[in-house]
Amino acid sequence: MAELAPYASRPEDSRGRHYAEDAPQGRSEFQRDRDRIVHSTAFRRLEYKTQVFVNHEGDLYRTRLTHSIEVAQIGRSIARALRLNEDLTEAISLAHDLGHTPFGHAGQDALHACMRGSGGFEHNLQSLRVVDLLETRYAAFDGLNLTFETREGILKHCSVANARKLGELGERFVRKQQPSLEAQIANIADEVAYNNHDVDDGLRSGLLTLDQLRDVPAFARHLDEVTRLYPDLVDRRLIHETVRRMINALINDLVTNSRLNIRRAGVASPQEVRASRALVCFSADMAAEQRQLKQFLRHNLYQHYLVARMANKARRIVSDLFGAFQADPRMLPPQYRTEAGATALARSIADYIAGMTDRYAIREHRRLFAVAEI
Ligand code: MG
Repeated sequence: MAELAPYASRPEDSRGRHYAEDAPQGRSEFQRDRDRIVHSTAFRRLEYKTQVFVNHEGDLYRTRLTHSIEVAQIGRSIARALRLNEDLTEAISLAHDLGHTPFGHAGQDALHACMRGSGGFEHNLQSLRVVDLLETRYAAFDGLNLTFETREGILKHCSVANARKLGELGERFVRKQQPSLEAQIANIADEVAYNNHDVDDGLRSGLLTLDQLRDVPAFARHLDEVTRLYPDLVDRRLIHETVRRMINALINDLVTNSRLNIRRAGVASPQEVRASRALVCFSADMAAEQRQLKQFLRHNLYQHYLVARMANKARRIVSDLFGAFQADPRMLPPQYRTEAGATALARSIADYIAGMTDRYAIREHRRLFAVAEI
């Protein structure tokens, strides 16, 4: 493998872990982070959490687990091409969605509304809570005790008010600085992954049609090329050939443009990366095309009436559960009960609900509200 670039993150320069540990044998600190994430309970639960489509609607749609694996694949390709740290990119990518509630954004919005007045709910901060606190697997500490670099990368967005409470970890938001290039990659790989798999899942579900997508240049360009090369190709193969070309074009654009940005900024160390503007980004033309694609997805998929019905049900399940536990905390499993006051109780209920998979939340709702169920 090519030597790391001077502005890459190096495990030996890590700001370290909260609880000091012996250096790992035969793997780097960032590989150890990645391994801990893969073995965590929250990671396994991603298999039964969804973003747009609810889990029981079909076995072929993306879940947060397959999404996270796709983000890691895209992220690693970019990191390797730019001679950045693949292991750190992979660790951040695999962990980035650990704090997501069941039912995608509908679930998060509902939980945030329930938590208004108790500090709110934000999935990035929750991902951090999972790796810092909520995983209970190790004898010597709560959480996974990950390196500073992985934790900082997980915190993709944060308000300045929340950042101030996080000390060193929130510093970059207070100072308006950038995170490592590896974190910037994971961030944008997330977007590449979901835009493309939402097109794919949207077509698969029948909520989107090829005809609609012919008006979206980011898709149509590649569809035309595939049709020219393979005039008789239909259905799944045609869609897959088009989507894979889209992903490829995005990665190539990111690599070329980010390389150029890095050269122009003249950064020579990870410290200079932090003080610079965001360097991992699309070219202006590609960025404009991506905005169009996003807008298309918003209007035609995320606001589709069938998705809206699902989202509405999801919001009701989450707020019903929250309300029931708040009204009678005795119904909470013992490890989530607390005597530390109303705010602490609300946070604990949020932790419990955020940790649920889609199907667990549906089942729990039935257990609490269906009279015939015990
Ligand atoms: Mg994501």
